[in-house]
Amino acid sequence: MNYKNSLTNPIFGVISKSAEELGYDCYVVGGFVRDLILNLGAKKDIDIVAVGSGIELAKRVSKNLPNNPNVQIFKTYGTAMIKFEGVDLEFVGARKESYSEDSRNPSVEDGTLEEDQNRRDFTINAMAISLNIASYGQILDPFDGIKDLKLKCIKTPLDPTITYSDDPLRMLRAIRFASQLDFSIETNSLKAIKNQSKRVQIITNERINIELQKILKCKKPSIGFLLLEKTGLLDYILPELAALKGVDEVEGQKHKDNFYHTLEVLDNISKHTENVWLRWAALLHDIGKAPTKKFSKKVGWTFHGHELEGSKMVYHLFKRLKMPLNEKMKYVQKLIFMSSRPIVIAQENITDSAVRRLVFDAGEQIQDLMTLCEADITTKNKYKFNKYHNNFKLVREKIVEVEERDRVRHFQPPISGKIIMEAFGLGPSKKIGIIKEYIKESILEGIIPNDSEKAFELMLKKGTELGLTIANEK
Ligand code: ATP
Ligand code: MG
Repeated sequence: MNYKNSLTNPIFGVISKSAEELGYDCYVVGGFVRDLILNLGAKKDIDIVAVGSGIELAKRVSKNLPNNPNVQIFKTYGTAMIKFEGVDLEFVGARKESYSEDSRNPSVEDGTLEEDQNRRDFTINAMAISLNIASYGQILDPFDGIKDLKLKCIKTPLDPTITYSDDPLRMLRAIRFASQLDFSIETNSLKAIKNQSKRVQIITNERINIELQKILKCKKPSIGFLLLEKTGLLDYILPELAALKGVDEVEGQKHKDNFYHTLEVLDNISKHTENVWLRWAALLHDIGKAPTKKFSKKVGWTFHGHELEGSKMVYHLFKRLKMPLNEKMKYVQKLIFMSSRPIVIAQENITDSAVRRLVFDAGEQIQDLMTLCEADITTKNKYKFNKYHNNFKLVREKIVEVEERDRVRHFQPPISGKIIMEAFGLGPSKKIGIIKEYIKESILEGIIPNDSEKAFELMLKKGTELGLTIANEK
């Protein structure tokens, strides 16, 4: 098969000409070729391998391009990158690699195209398309990657045990590609990953996190997390989640398996949001259940305080995985901390004041919190399923109503401390705080609307009760 007509980006012509000038052979390899054959649309990062110096080729390509785009050189890796018209071009010289036991960074020597293809992680990632003038567009597929694309199979070119042991990051990549492409991992590969799962410990947490984020962004992220569990990798990289596995039974009373429940919630939410942080919240929303689990004869299994416990655990988990400890983390923590609130409201009479308090506490995150709670409905009982969804629909309607009236989502006190001080001719005093809190509570309870005139009246009343005198009556 010739892929000449599929290489529609004119950049390939420029690369071909540049390699010819230098007397190098050169090929486009890896993910670009894979996604091209899968018809996934043009990939924005393109890997080019040169039988020669990747850095020299990049420099020549830049010279031959209009405006000579900047060449970023990574000397230690022998690679170079050019960003041009929305694509990232990565250049590397063909190479041979050998690994040592304690590191995933190999020692590297120049090599042939075949040697370069041997060092690649999967058959579907080892295909190359020629950019040489004489064979332009021809595919070089030594491990029958095309067949594995058809079979939807992730397989290593060489012995899987050695491939994964050399660079254990490949175990995570296998699972990530399985999840992204909805492929299965070939049996021997899966066995090799299981046997060596503990070698994932030599991978830096940053790299682990990159793969986890990619799995989370998939259409159906449970594919990846189930594989992480099945291979034992989850125990090392997300022990908090692994701890949710299993069903305990005491005196005939069981609780649900919170690991599988979590994955259902995650798949549910992924149908409604691309926001990866909301997906993180779904993934972690029940992690507090493992440390808070208790059994009592009277009430059966309980997980009291799991929301607070879970939100605290997020900090340690984010820190360990080198994730940002900023407002993204706080957002995840807040959603987990509040994750049962709408459920409690929906179970009881949905009162205005309960909804107003929910909106006040959730603030900006109210809609995401509702999305999380709806995704959390995993009951297989049709009657209950519909009932819970209907209840949440009512809560959502009430949120709109209450917001129109009282606007508590971005609550600003209708009466400032300054107004209170002026009204009673006071300096700074504790009583100002008491009055402000009283007004806020009265608005949330629905005793007065969120309106400055009504709040002013209430302030005069409360101040008088506290023994203050109105200034103009002094
Ligand atoms: P994507 O960019 O969608 O993640 P990709 O296949 O382009 O997919 P990259 O990480 O960009 O993946 O790597 C480019 C190519 O380099 C891969 O297709 C593969 O051939 C090779 N490769 C990357 N990482 C490894 C690794 N750890 N071991 C062996 N080969 C690798
Ligand atoms: Mg890539």
